[in-house]
Amino acid sequence: MNFIDLGAQYRAYAEELNAAVLKVMASTQFIMGAEVDALEKNLSAYTGAKHSLACSSGTDALLIPLMALGIGAGDEVITSPFTFIASAEVIALVGAKPVFVDIDETTYNLDPAKLEAAITPRTKAIMPVSLYGQVADMDEINAIAAKYGIPVIEDACQSFGADYKGKKSCNVSTVGATSFFPSKPLGCYGDGGAVFTNDDELAAKMTSIRIHGQSVRYVHKYVGVNGRLDAMQAAILNVKMKYFPQEAAKRIEIGARYSELFAASGANVVTPVVKSDRTSMYAQYSVRVKNRDAVIAKLTAAGIPTAVHYPIPLHKQECFQYLGLGDGSFPVSELVSSEIMSLPMDPFKTEEDLQQVVAAVTEATK
Ligand SMILES: *Cc1c(COP(=O)(O)O)cnc(C)c1O
Repeated sequence: MNFIDLGAQYRAYAEELNAAVLKVMASTQFIMGAEVDALEKNLSAYTGAKHSLACSSGTDALLIPLMALGIGAGDEVITSPFTFIASAEVIALVGAKPVFVDIDETTYNLDPAKLEAAITPRTKAIMPVSLYGQVADMDEINAIAAKYGIPVIEDACQSFGADYKGKKSCNVSTVGATSFFPSKPLGCYGDGGAVFTNDDELAAKMTSIRIHGQSVRYVHKYVGVNGRLDAMQAAILNVKMKYFPQEAAKRIEIGARYSELFAASGANVVTPVVKSDRTSMYAQYSVRVKNRDAVIAKLTAAGIPTAVHYPIPLHKQECFQYLGLGDGSFPVSELVSSEIMSLPMDPFKTEEDLQQVVAAVTEATK
């Protein structure tokens, strides 16, 4: 069994994907152009965000708004310590200080009850992460941010497609940033990402920063980056966007079915909790187990691939030792990172696949 079966997805849309890529090659329009314009329209139509800017990766999609907001040395940006490195890396890259706020023990997203205490006069943005595909408690976070006049950047790199109280992830805060890394809910065939906003001024500045801070060609208003998406990735995404709503529905169904099978199995696991006012894209279907190493060894022997998202909370990474945050700084993140384990998940998994995984996990956690 594959952890994520990108091959099954390719075979399902192969004819259209191949034709789309060949068309770009014949056009010789490789950078920006019609495919990127079409993708941005598709992304805005899907998320409801007024401005969608395709860019080179999820990491750049997080970096560009920080640059556009003028965040740098002496500033602080709040994020979760239980996420992929990029969430905090971009904060450090612009010269600001990552400030961590611990997660909620049921959703694994930033705990809004702990947020306000972390705000200082230097706080310039809050970057909640919609981990595993479930939007963070955005209403609570936005309300605290509004009280202090601070923008909110949703790290939606795992949650493209998720619903939150009738809105789409990427369109629930000042800015949303997603990734089209191949294994994400909407993936391209290389690196890609997008940034979303309803703020015209911010959109204009991010559009400029995405292409070397230029206003017109060879005239540079800001220091920017090469953060463009290439036309081939856009063409692939335009094909995949047609099927994405049905894939998203399938993800929700498979995640729910996993949890149903686990509930009936007697397996010794903590399954994901999705709040009733939102959906999860299950970018990962992650469960908590005791004795994770032993469980993973048994699953590997049974032919079930697993992964750990993420084994080391960010405050314990070597690159962030300068922050001086030792053991016990964020106890929930530390606990969850020691127990979490992701199981095979993609929209092409069958009932038999799920039953096989659940049976193996039940046996391995006895
Ligand atoms: C994947 C991911 C990123 C980075 O996206 P890339 O496209 O790989 O640069 C950032 N944050 C989170 C939470 C992610 O999962």
